[in-house]
Amino acid sequence: SPRLRPVGVCRMCVVDVGERVLAASCVRPCQPGMKVQTASAKVEQHRAMLTRLLLSDMPAERDAASSGKPCDLEALGQRYELLDDQGQLIGDFAARPAAALDVSPALRLSVPPSFVNSGNVGEAAVQGAHAPRSPERPRDMSSPVITVDHQACILCDRCVRACDEIQSNDVIGRTGKGYLSRIGFDLDLPMGESTCVSCGECAAVCPTRALVHKPVTLPVLAGDDLRHVDSVCPYCGVGCAVTFHVKGDTVVGVDGRESVVNHARLCVKGRYGWDYALHPQRLTTPLIRRSKFYPKGALSRQVQTSAVDPSAGKQRKPGGIVDYAEVLPAFREATWDEALSLAARRLVELRDSHGPSVLAGFGSAKCSNEEAYLFQKLVRTAFRTNNVDHCTRLCHASSVAALMEMIGSGAVTNVFADVARAEVALITGSSTTQNHPVAATFIKEAARQGTKLIVVDVRRVDLADFATHFAQIRPGTDVAFYNGVMHVLIAEGLVDRQFIAERTENFAALSELLLAHYSPEQSEAICGVPADEIRAIARTIGRAGSMIVFWGMGISQHTTGTDNARCLISLCLMTGNVGRPGTGLHPLRGQNNVQGASDSGLIPMVYPDYQPVGDAKNREKFERAWGVPLDPKPGLTVVEIAHGALHGDIKGMYILGENPFLSDPNTAKVRRALANLEFLVVQDIFLTETAEFADVILPASSYLEKTGTYTNTDRRVQVGRKVLDPPGDAREDWRIICDLAGRMGYPMEYASTDEVFNEFSALAPSYAGLTHENLGLSGKLWPCNDPATGDGTQILFSDRFPTPSGRGQFVPCPWLPAKELPDDAYPFVLNTGRVLEHWHTGTMTRRSHALSTIEPEAFVAVNPADLSRLQIEPEGLVRVSSRRGAITLKARADRTVETGSLFVPFHFREAAANVLTNDALDPFGKIPEFKFCAVRLERADG
Ligand code: SF4
Repeated sequence: SPRLRPVGVCRMCVVDVGERVLAASCVRPCQPGMKVQTASAKVEQHRAMLTRLLLSDMPAERDAASSGKPCDLEALGQRYELLDDQGQLIGDFAARPAAALDVSPALRLSVPPSFVNSGNVGEAAVQGAHAPRSPERPRDMSSPVITVDHQACILCDRCVRACDEIQSNDVIGRTGKGYLSRIGFDLDLPMGESTCVSCGECAAVCPTRALVHKPVTLPVLAGDDLRHVDSVCPYCGVGCAVTFHVKGDTVVGVDGRESVVNHARLCVKGRYGWDYALHPQRLTTPLIRRSKFYPKGALSRQVQTSAVDPSAGKQRKPGGIVDYAEVLPAFREATWDEALSLAARRLVELRDSHGPSVLAGFGSAKCSNEEAYLFQKLVRTAFRTNNVDHCTRLCHASSVAALMEMIGSGAVTNVFADVARAEVALITGSSTTQNHPVAATFIKEAARQGTKLIVVDVRRVDLADFATHFAQIRPGTDVAFYNGVMHVLIAEGLVDRQFIAERTENFAALSELLLAHYSPEQSEAICGVPADEIRAIARTIGRAGSMIVFWGMGISQHTTGTDNARCLISLCLMTGNVGRPGTGLHPLRGQNNVQGASDSGLIPMVYPDYQPVGDAKNREKFERAWGVPLDPKPGLTVVEIAHGALHGDIKGMYILGENPFLSDPNTAKVRRALANLEFLVVQDIFLTETAEFADVILPASSYLEKTGTYTNTDRRVQVGRKVLDPPGDAREDWRIICDLAGRMGYPMEYASTDEVFNEFSALAPSYAGLTHENLGLSGKLWPCNDPATGDGTQILFSDRFPTPSGRGQFVPCPWLPAKELPDDAYPFVLNTGRVLEHWHTGTMTRRSHALSTIEPEAFVAVNPADLSRLQIEPEGLVRVSSRRGAITLKARADRTVETGSLFVPFHFREAAANVLTNDALDPFGKIPEFKFCAVRLERADG
């Protein structure tokens, strides 16, 4: 595999360089004058012999590939006429023409030592049969996603190196001696019980059928005719390039595609989590609410606070997804014409009788740029309001607010792969291995090659194991910690004076605040990190030639989220770490198209490409382009819209691909808000918890069923290509949006999504010149000065910032506590977030067989000391309550969580974390405080 460091283990690549023995070409450097024969008779004879020896140990029954990846060893066997089409050994081996079984001295040096030394070399091959199954080399079926057949393993070590070198997981090694050598997981555990994270990299590189992806849908059999579609992973903001393999009308596998983004790496979601699109619960027909006999939200009231049915004492249905049998009777099937006409009529009635500001729309960061662009255009032109927002509000709105304020752009300044060029990488508020797993592999790789990692988090996240410094701060004290670090940098003269003088403003005000109030000792008193460690971290940063900063929602999802991000920006500005290789600011975007949905204008205060709606010139530009007058007032944000619905100010909504019932804070309030709407249209691929409140449900297309562009966390715009047709009467989202707009009196007509993209890119300077065609297979980074041949701009702001003065602005931030602090009644701090296998409200990942098998149920992570103090058994049922509600779920002992803190993933409706969370907002980014609220923990039976 070209992705692995050559080590010369298997010796299948031997060439003849005119020496006594053949040379393994992967490790033998070329020399001037060297004559290399790659297919001489001697080479072919040795390769045939080696193939024969390796095949001799293969069991007759081997696992079918599930991804369409050919078996390299079988291909060689067939090339040397040793195997038939079905992979079985052909006839009498000893009689084959190239079969000089007396192993020559040259060959002895070419074959793996385990074979030469085993005493069993070629025994089965001589008899023309595969080896019988050996009890010492069994099959291991314990992993939900990979079958391990130790007897089909040729000990080439590719999997070991893929696990170590590509994914940096270090799970696979060697165990046993001599002929009994085999690969082992951790301390020789079954794979499914090891620390394997199911990324599938080992099976992707295995050249035999020893490590095989278990079929997600159908197995791929010899002779199957597969179609291959190059696309992009639908999950996180990393945007890994993939190739889908399709048999008939079923996707049967996915492989990572070689690309500058992921170098063919994938995580468990990208590799095994795509079967949700084929789930039988897909919505295939428009639905209309039957009548008032089914009050909105009645069912959701019963099913989202407990993993256990209190009446029966049993666990609720596996998967915890919406029970269609309970909810569907409230709806009747309808034609598209009927459903869209009703939706358009009711929305127009509300608009015309109460004014446009009673309408609002939630788009989605899962949708393509084209869909996001059309959705905000519909809201602005047909609804005639700017009340349009999406879930970025809930993840990085505060980061964007701080970036816009201080450096004039919300974009990441450097791509994540730039970590390889950084002397120091600061990772803060990000469980990168869980949320951006493939980006994490590049960070781990950089650490192994000498980049010093500084990890700052309230939990001991996985990357802490690779860190030079790990600072476990108290929840909600980021500002105090970074102010302390910056104090040391200033006090010890470790700042970049020239950069500060030439490229920034307002340093004096920041310096004054920090020197007066944030000595390391003063910071330690707040954040809990020892003063000397704060000094050591500051010195590591100050003495480095370059530092790149990555942050996640541990920074942004606070009422002080904007202040937290401001501190990180100040840190980079004062050390001159912007605008060069290996430096920069990179808020890791959560969903696949968070960056693009924001770029496309799904934001209430800006048009596409962040052009403020309050600016008359911008408004005129978009009024000219769209041909209607536009509302000059910025619209409401996600949580403000929910508050508006609660109080009757918002009466009609259109929700595309979002599930605010589970994703927004303070579920009880969201339920009342949704139930209070006079009219709600939900467009989705499944019956979500939010859809239960709808008057009209429109069956939409999954990621696999449409072509569109997605912009990853690096600003790389990539084309996701259609793989399948939508099921039943479901339609592509962009067509539904256009149809609804037309029925509301604003015709939107396009032949295809490239036409939509062209209109958008003509109005968004950052996307200028990009087209579906020139994006090609690898996409391009915006801005791209040379769309015909260039790859786009990797590093932004090398000379100036896009602020009015061209300089970056320091913004001093005093530390402020979270809005709801622990007390005697609610003594724990609750932190919420994601787990590796799931994504958002679980509508997709909980319908993926592999992902829901690996992580099937809700849990609360608790430090073992707290469990023992409260006499709670690990895996015991507990109740977690806040001032807003309570949930019942299992307790999981977890030492990465500090005592006094809890962590609950928010994917699980049966124990919805947002029942507990506080909907207090950051005043600048309007992001809720998902990462901090006061809760109580107790035994459920107490
Ligand atoms: Fe998909 Fe993100 Fe995993 Fe890549 S890292 S495979 S984009 S979920």
